Amino acid sequence: MSEAKLPFQQLVLASGNAGKLKELQAMLGDSVSVLPQSEFVAEEAVEDGLSFVENAIIKARHACKASGLPSLADDSGIAADALSGAPGIYSARYAGVGGDAANNAKLLQALEGLSTEQRGARFISVLVLMLHADDPTPIICEGVWYGSILNESRGDHGFGYDPLFWVPEANCSSAELSPAEKNRLSHRAKAMAQLRARLGLN
Ligand code: IMP
Repeated sequence: MSEAKLPFQQLVLASGNAGKLKELQAMLGDSVSVLPQSEFVAEEAVEDGLSFVENAIIKARHACKASGLPSLADDSGIAADALSGAPGIYSARYAGVGGDAANNAKLLQALEGLSTEQRGARFISVLVLMLHADDPTPIICEGVWYGSILNESRGDHGFGYDPLFWVPEANCSSAELSPAEKNRLSHRAKAMAQLRARLGLN
């Protein structure tokens, strides 16, 4: 990113998810000084929207309010075709408590017995950039990554549902990709490419 074009030098990443933070930080590089919202936010935002866009705006606004700085939020998740798009916006809390392992186990169970053709899925990432808490024109970018859900976990990289997500163009699971390769192909990478274009940085 060329700093001269950006209307800010510092940006708060509105997420408490370590996996996401790592990826977004790597994608943003040195172009802007990226601050974790934990430096400013005492409590996480209440994500009570009914869509990725709504929840991303809620999170970005929350971080702007707490920090007085511009913020970038990512709301993301996985949507299985056979489950009418579930777990979708509820991906992080699909199994209630228990984190990634419990979420993955629940997804495997929900798709049990389905053929490869019936296991289509996509990752979605909505990135929202807000310059301040009352910003009436947030920049909204969406990236989608198509694949399918495996029958069992494969790979150790990444986070969340990565071990279950088959990436057809790479012939492996998302957790078998190197971090750099995932950051080139993923839903988040696609949304970030749009954001960079919107900011005039590509
Ligand atoms: P959020 O923090 O409410 O946006 O929830 C995002 C959740 O979606 C994560 O906790 C993961 O379960 C899932 N997710 C989003 N992006 C990814 C990814 O790149 N890999 C694996 N899981 C992801």
